[in-house]
Amino acid sequence: MLEPPPQYRNRPPRFTDATVLTSIGPDRLGREAWLEPNTARAWQSMQATATASGVTLWVASAFRSIARQEEIVTAKLRRGLTWEQILAVSAYPGFSEHHTGTAIDLTTPDCPDLVEKFETTAAFRWLTRHASGFGFALSYPRGNPHGVVYEPWHWRWHDGLRQP
Ligand SMILES: [Zn+2]
Repeated sequence: MLEPPPQYRNRPPRFTDATVLTSIGPDRLGREAWLEPNTARAWQSMQATATASGVTLWVASAFRSIARQEEIVTAKLRRGLTWEQILAVSAYPGFSEHHTGTAIDLTTPDCPDLVEKFETTAAFRWLTRHASGFGFALSYPRGNPHGVVYEPWHWRWHDGLRQP
């Protein structure tokens, strides 16, 4: 197990890996993607509704295990990146909402993955109006209290958020 850098050691919240996962089919790059079952159902319903409104939502990233996050971070360290550079874009293993299977990174045609410009797309405008109705909320809006950079692409499903 990697030793977290000092600024990360007491940084709540910590997450554990999802224990039950459902396939949601291929992500944007054709890799099979997984979410915990309630999130998978909510995602598929939201995606279908968006499609019916002429809005295309693609999955850039869904469930990611702590072990996989450790591989990603370790590879970056080996390439010579500093912790500061790595943690600007990757969570420390054990601290990513993606471990829980309830977080999903979304993208849309004609927009690169995981860029702030996603907020200018029709897909993002649709999400800001409709995602909460499916139980999804933006985890890291501008100026969020977690000190995480603004991530308009990262949505997390919350039990109980769904509106009638
Ligand atoms: Zn994310």
